[in-house]
Amino acid sequence: MARVIIIGCGGVATVGITKCCQHPEVFEEIMIASRTKSKCDALAEKLRPTTKTVIHTTAIDAGDVNQVIALIKEFKADMVMHLGMPFHNLVIMDACLECKIHYLDTAEYEPEDVDEPVWRARYEKRVKELGFSAYFDYSYQWEYRERFEKIGKIALLGCGFDPGVTQAYVAYAKKHYFDEIEYIDILDCNGGDHGYKFATNFNPEINLREVSSPGAYYENGKWHTIAPMSIMHPYDFDEVGVKNMYLLHHEETESIARWFPEVKRIRFYMSFGDSYIQHMNCLQDVGMLRTDPVMYNGVEITPIQFLKALLPDPATLGPRTVGKTNIGCICRGKKDGKPVSYYIYNVCDHQESYKETGSQAISYTTGTPAMCGAMMVLTGKWTKPGARTCDEYDPDPFIDALNKYGLPTRENFNPKMIDDSYDNL
Ligand code: NDP
Repeated sequence: MARVIIIGCGGVATVGITKCCQHPEVFEEIMIASRTKSKCDALAEKLRPTTKTVIHTTAIDAGDVNQVIALIKEFKADMVMHLGMPFHNLVIMDACLECKIHYLDTAEYEPEDVDEPVWRARYEKRVKELGFSAYFDYSYQWEYRERFEKIGKIALLGCGFDPGVTQAYVAYAKKHYFDEIEYIDILDCNGGDHGYKFATNFNPEINLREVSSPGAYYENGKWHTIAPMSIMHPYDFDEVGVKNMYLLHHEETESIARWFPEVKRIRFYMSFGDSYIQHMNCLQDVGMLRTDPVMYNGVEITPIQFLKALLPDPATLGPRTVGKTNIGCICRGKKDGKPVSYYIYNVCDHQESYKETGSQAISYTTGTPAMCGAMMVLTGKWTKPGARTCDEYDPDPFIDALNKYGLPTRENFNPKMIDDSYDNL
């Protein structure tokens, strides 16, 4: 039915590609295009005996718009699923616009070089005006909204779990259980253990940048920035147990604040073990998380990229990781004038994810929604054109697909709250 280019062949892409190959009726032919072709070939070879999807592979530099345009034209693609690095989002969106096809990614745009003066000036202005200091924000991709509308195609932004499913969860909660949602807490808990003293579960450059940056939450129309990891709450997660979770800034707070303007507060929490935090603080203190180049023995190196080369490749954590993830949203608000509390979440098992796709649950919970999101677009379940996030579409068919294809939804109508900082509803 559709011809899809999938950019990237790391942890998330491996799951996304494997899941697409489980649905040849939708993903008839795919082109795996990434920087290292041998990785694409190895995955294609593994999957071909298992699927009717016709799989092609090629090397590409996703940062080169001409290469992306040439590939889209040559392959006659209907859609690009960008499951590589967020640095290339805008280039790939430009290529999709030029060729008039659909686009999807799993993370907000952020630049590779955060000291580039034009980007930096806009960033500083945004920090002052909106109040959060993360390097990523939706404004760059939202600027493509009308251009995609004009060509009648969808650019589905941030269609992983968080962002992605968490926004669909909020839309689902609103559609089915609330007249008004006033408080949203998004909880991302990884109860997995990979046995290393320190490793990141997805791309270390993106993960460490996110976690070591100041946190922020949205309240009464603006973001409030806090020192990195300075707000912590323990929470007892279903099937995982008690974990310490820390308030971070996260992408979906931006879109939820925009599309659910009645919301008074949105907070995002992620769980981390003590060992992770100790290592990260130490790496931060010694300068290993720096994103600017430094000279070493006459060679320019970027510390965080060098660190990435030393750390275990997240794509290799699959066989060693045991335990579960638990990610979801606690919503509080009103229905028919009465207070409602509602928790919608998913529990995903690392070893089951690995058995099915060769990747652990962090990649599984990202690559599976990416496939389901692409399926929504390609099968005409989601039709509203433009550059949009998952909270802008009918959540029901997407949640149905997640339920069927590996990420079943759970609900709790009497959840324990994180703290008592809510109005008396
Ligand atoms: P990986 O580092 O495992 O994979 C990145 C892939 O992109 C690699 O295959 C890499 O190639 C490829 N790549 C890098 N640069 C280029 C380039 N210039 N041209 C072509 N290919 C390139 O990352 P993950 O799979 O862990 O993460 C993928 C994305 O998913 C990230 O944007 C991450 O932020 C996002 N994510 C989203 C989540 C969500 O819930 N929404 C959760 C987790 C991750 P090579 O193999 O040569 O290195």
